[in-house]
Amino acid sequence: MRVWIDQDLCVGNGICEELSPDVFYFDGNLAFVRNGEQVLPRGEDGILTVRAGLEESVLDAAEECPAECIYVEA
Ligand code: SF4
Repeated sequence: MRVWIDQDLCVGNGICEELSPDVFYFDGNLAFVRNGEQVLPRGEDGILTVRAGLEESVLDAAEECPAECIYVEA
């Protein structure tokens, strides 16, 4: 499973980081996908293959995102 965020749509409530802090980083304004300590670029350039064990939390975040801007690909 892979995930990325469209930051153009992000409304900055930080819910994704709360639900899945190993995959999302919220800078207080926008959310980004992270790979460990590395914060990935905006949009599809910041796509991450989600490691096993984190998939459920990523799906929860995508579902709860009010902007529906967390994109999950099988
Ligand atoms: S849950 Fe969605 S709108 Fe909220 S910070 Fe994360 S990506 Fe942005």
